[in-house]
Amino acid sequence: MNPASMAPKGMIVGLLMTYNIYLPLLFCKFEACRIYLGVLAIGQARYTSEKLEAKKMLDKGAKVTFTYDGNETSGKILHILAAGKKPAAYFDILTAADKALEADRCFDETRSCEDESYLVVTKRSKNTVAKIYWLSKDDLSGVQVVVRQYGLLQPSNWQDDCFNHLYLQNRYWNCLVEIEQDNRNKYRALVGEDEDVAPIQDAIDGLKSRIADMAEQRTQLKIEHCKKIGIHTEPLDNAIKAAKAEMKKLSNKAKEARAVAKERIRAAGPAFKLLEDERRQSVKEAYNNSQLWWGNYNAITNSYNTARTRAMKEGADLRFHRFDGSGRFTCQIMGGMSTDDLLSGRNSVAQLRKVSNSEFTKIIKSNPPALQLQLVGSRRDEREYGVLSITIYTAEDDQGKKTRRTLDFPIILHRPLPENATLKIISVNRKKIGTDYRWAVTFTFSEETKESIVHTSKQTCGINLGWKQVAGGLRVATVSDGTSTRHVVLPQVIIDKLAYTESLQSRIDTATNENFIWLLGKMADPPEILKGDVTSLKRSKRPHPAKFAKFVIKWRNECSEFEPQALIEAEVMRKNVKRLSLEHHHLRDKVLRRRIDFYRNEAKKIADKYSMIVMDKMDLRQMSALEKSDGTPNELADLARYHRKVAAISEFREWIGKQAIKAGGAVEMIAIESTRTCNACDGVMAPSDGLMFRCKSCGTFVDQDENASANLLRAVT
Ligand SMILES: [Zn+2]
Repeated sequence: MNPASMAPKGMIVGLLMTYNIYLPLLFCKFEACRIYLGVLAIGQARYTSEKLEAKKMLDKGAKVTFTYDGNETSGKILHILAAGKKPAAYFDILTAADKALEADRCFDETRSCEDESYLVVTKRSKNTVAKIYWLSKDDLSGVQVVVRQYGLLQPSNWQDDCFNHLYLQNRYWNCLVEIEQDNRNKYRALVGEDEDVAPIQDAIDGLKSRIADMAEQRTQLKIEHCKKIGIHTEPLDNAIKAAKAEMKKLSNKAKEARAVAKERIRAAGPAFKLLEDERRQSVKEAYNNSQLWWGNYNAITNSYNTARTRAMKEGADLRFHRFDGSGRFTCQIMGGMSTDDLLSGRNSVAQLRKVSNSEFTKIIKSNPPALQLQLVGSRRDEREYGVLSITIYTAEDDQGKKTRRTLDFPIILHRPLPENATLKIISVNRKKIGTDYRWAVTFTFSEETKESIVHTSKQTCGINLGWKQVAGGLRVATVSDGTSTRHVVLPQVIIDKLAYTESLQSRIDTATNENFIWLLGKMADPPEILKGDVTSLKRSKRPHPAKFAKFVIKWRNECSEFEPQALIEAEVMRKNVKRLSLEHHHLRDKVLRRRIDFYRNEAKKIADKYSMIVMDKMDLRQMSALEKSDGTPNELADLARYHRKVAAISEFREWIGKQAIKAGGAVEMIAIESTRTCNACDGVMAPSDGLMFRCKSCGTFVDQDENASANLLRAVT
């Protein structure tokens, strides 16, 4: 036997013997190790430094996929081991087991640790335990998802059938939402029948209808007083407020009762399981009836599943989608294809034919674009032109022969497609912007990365996120690495533009509210044909410009003899709001893209420099809510709330995560009191002057964000 593999086994037991007082949990998990007896003294002093070393290694985890016992699985690399070189490597196994909780080992302890072996942990999910694998380099291949996005010009062969296919997809989505709602209602009813829940639920329902009545009265009052100054709705406002507060209390009580009831029902029988089976059956029927091509219904079913999981986690409801001609065509390529396959047209699902610049110009001239193509980057010389053809559905003709409907798009490749990657999904997106549509394609590749899984840098940084107004813009992040500190400032010009689009939105809202009140005033005694529409306008909770427009158009088309003067006025109102909406759509789209560009670039700079990034694990949604979960108002000031919205730092945080994965680095979210703790002495910080804090104990005077990011960094180093 290789002596290098003998020695470490002695060490592992040495470690266990030394530390079994401190790590009783680990000791239980590695019962089997006890049979190897060995003596190796490691001093108490090393314990802390080894543990820290182990922790740093764990946090560097990179994701890989591998095959074990014939099954493909994926996990995070915890550590790379080199045989016989470091006892700490074995310590990692133990710490990893502890971290992975209930980890089930899948490695052979008698096997020697090869020159380079990897420790891999797979994630624990609701019904599975985490697993730790010990694999050689040959067992692994890192798989990286590569996404390429390109703008498309409008397709040359678009027809009603394509539009219809988008409509069917929208209908399928709404059908899934309906199934979901039905399922939720049944589930709630089941829980609601419980003897403890029912009376509280009755009380809540009573309150709800009282609030609805009062809101209706308030609307009526506003309509009647439309032209007079001073509307006296305060008593009603207050009553509604009080009722809502009461409801909040009851809701919390109901929540507790429901949790107990659920356990009771689960213990009593398979009622929940039957409901779930029923839901699955309905989803199956829905896609059988959807008349969609499999690539498309699969994509929608997937987004439904994702949205559903998220909605359940957040206690939200899935939403119906209004159809405005937007949508997506998805080709899933079975088994994948190479970029070569795509370019040579070997696969009938999708093809990309490259064309010369002059041919491309000809194609565009015969089919002018509705929207200016958004050109990304400045690599003009590398730009290539082509025509992308993708399948949007297949059908059978009269003779029962299979036909394939494709759409052909002129495409500008502003950067080349990856060469050694496997193309898995092509999705073409059509999005309504104002009155036009913008097209884009997303290619999703998977690429093996045997070499570059681990980040080359060994630097760690702490990032404090926030939204504070400083000269030049909003300070959204402070990056600290122990030797230097840098602030990321979202430029003022983006903030100003967002503020302008916001003001457009509020002009639209105000106009729409006024239009609704005016319209209902005119429709006190509507003609028969409009009666139903008037009732539904009155019932609608939130006035929407589209509802107003739809009503006015019907009025014009079907009974223009009714109040012709008012109809002219209504048309003017409708057109004004439409003009504002178009301006709003275009500007907003533009400025949001600019913010994304800024965040993407800043995140890349950070991710390229640091292999490990530490951020505060704050719940951003909770911070922006108007009320805390217990119903008390959130004291975040209006301006701060507005800044938070403008900064959209969850977007930035997301980009940091994405870029870190790309660079092979890792992100760690930790929950510590980073703001109010003094980085120098652990004392308590107090706000002093603007952004500066002063320590109550040692008197350190420091920028609060710099202090917070230094604390985050300190927590892991
Ligand atoms: Zn201090």
